[in-house]
Amino acid sequence: MGQKTYIPYKTRIIVTFVSMFFLFAGTVTVYQYQREKETKILSIENTLCQYSDIIFNHLNKNNDYTYVDSLVELFPVENLRVTVIDLSGKVLFDNAVRDVKELDNHGSRPEILSAKSNTKGYNIRKSATTGKEYFYFAKNYENLFVRSSLIYNIPVINQLKVDTLFILITAIIFIVFLIIALFVADKLGDSILVLKNFAINAKNNKEQQSTIIDKLPNDELGVIAQEIITLYSDINKAKNILSIEREKLNNHFQYSSKGIAIFNEKRENIFVNPLFIQYINIILTKSNVVSEDIFKSKIFKGVIGFVDKKLTDNSKGKIYNYNENIESNGKYFEINASVFFDKSFEISIADITKDEKRRILKHEITGNIAHELKTPVTIVKGYLETITENKDLESEQSDYFLSRSIEQINRLVDIINEISIISKLEEAPNHYEIEELNLNEILNNIKIYLGVKLDKKNIILHINLFEGVIITGNKTLIHSIFQNLIDNSIKYAGENTTIEINTYLEDDTHYYFSYRDNGPGIPEEHIQRIFERFYRVSKGRSRSTGGSGLGLSIVKNAVQFHKGVINAKIHKNGGLEFVFSLGKKSDRVNKL
Ligand code: ADP
Repeated sequence: MGQKTYIPYKTRIIVTFVSMFFLFAGTVTVYQYQREKETKILSIENTLCQYSDIIFNHLNKNNDYTYVDSLVELFPVENLRVTVIDLSGKVLFDNAVRDVKELDNHGSRPEILSAKSNTKGYNIRKSATTGKEYFYFAKNYENLFVRSSLIYNIPVINQLKVDTLFILITAIIFIVFLIIALFVADKLGDSILVLKNFAINAKNNKEQQSTIIDKLPNDELGVIAQEIITLYSDINKAKNILSIEREKLNNHFQYSSKGIAIFNEKRENIFVNPLFIQYINIILTKSNVVSEDIFKSKIFKGVIGFVDKKLTDNSKGKIYNYNENIESNGKYFEINASVFFDKSFEISIADITKDEKRRILKHEITGNIAHELKTPVTIVKGYLETITENKDLESEQSDYFLSRSIEQINRLVDIINEISIISKLEEAPNHYEIEELNLNEILNNIKIYLGVKLDKKNIILHINLFEGVIITGNKTLIHSIFQNLIDNSIKYAGENTTIEINTYLEDDTHYYFSYRDNGPGIPEEHIQRIFERFYRVSKGRSRSTGGSGLGLSIVKNAVQFHKGVINAKIHKNGGLEFVFSLGKKSDRVNKL
């Protein structure tokens, strides 16, 4: 279908008015003209009829054609032609022709034919005899026809012309009507123009002037226009609110901790945030991925199967959700999907590696704790049962069993203390008291406290700290750091060894320490793992020396609590060396 031609509303109104008016005026004019013409013809007919009657009366009385000419001259018309024809059509007299014998039979002339049947007849045509146009009128007088004809010249035509006054009045009325029509069209057109401009502006998103309503006429059209404008401004407001909300949502998606992608029913991507691309990059282990790649990968077959099923499902009016955890390349992801009413769908990916690893670790730790606690408890139970079941046990023997039981119970208490320190460090680090600590003082106290143990193994402890090493931190944890390290040296470095504790650097924020003994150290491959919970280099040996594998884990966590970093290495002389830093200022909100 071709496009319809654009015709302005005003033009349509004017064209309709004008054509209606022309139709009306035309019809009236034609009708009037016909009537006028008929009246005029009748008047000529009457005149000519009178002349014919006079001539017939004269002929009837005198039967003499000689006076016909002079009779005709008496009539107040010029060029009157009189023809007398007998019933057979033969011309008996004609005042315009001298020799009537030359004339052909007039019986078939239209006016004669008409007079034959109707007594009277008229016709307008060119005369074959004179070559001039005549108005012929014939009358039947029983024995002959008298035909009076006037040259159908200008005066006659004029007589026949319609009265132009009517046409003039009609034309004036028409012009007045046209002006009114134009005025009305103008008024209507203006209101429509306001609406039209409003619609065009709305389409082009142009700012609408608030004065537009004032320009509207106070009529139905104005009311309609006002309703439309109000509706439009309501829609516009809603659109603005929506676009702000959309902006917020976009922002939220953009910086969400989840990778989010939204697709339409045809699986075309509508929205995707950078994290989504990053995650499928990791999961699919390839670069240059696009969001649609998930539809091709087997790893996502669960979620894609769900989406496919819900998209082909005809049940509407429900949002369907899906959830699944996947593992890929040592990382864990939670996949969520929602299929919406309009069959668009959202897929989100969250990196839950940390949580998942923590969960696995917790699981392992719980197992380890149970295992670690079971050993001393079983030993204590064994000793106590031996004592109670053997009443005749020598007091020396039972003392021995009891002292071993106490040893195991002490070990149990140590393990429980260590576990409680670790869990407090992990779960509630904010609960540690923070105060100003003089490290020189603390280390000297530890030296005194462990003096007996050190002496027993002939271990020399050198403390070489800068003067006035003061930090803001937790006393118990700082104690734990150094006491655990020294305890380990006592346990693993062996007799006649030396321990050295140094501060080797200080900057605005930290003190830097080195701790080493000159014992046998540990094989290189264990270095990376000695800070793990329950990790022991040699399980048998460690157990026998009472180690739980938690000491260095506490040290690492306590160093981190004080905004420091710790690393272990084998010293060139063989002993184990720890290099670590401690922040000068720690606060409660320090996160591990
Ligand atoms: P444990 O409670 O078994 O001592 P730690 O976490 O304190 O646990 O230490 C982990 C392991 O590191 C120990 O089992 C031990 O083998 C090794 N280790 C720690 N300190 C030393 C050291 N000074 N010399 C040699 N080996 C050490």
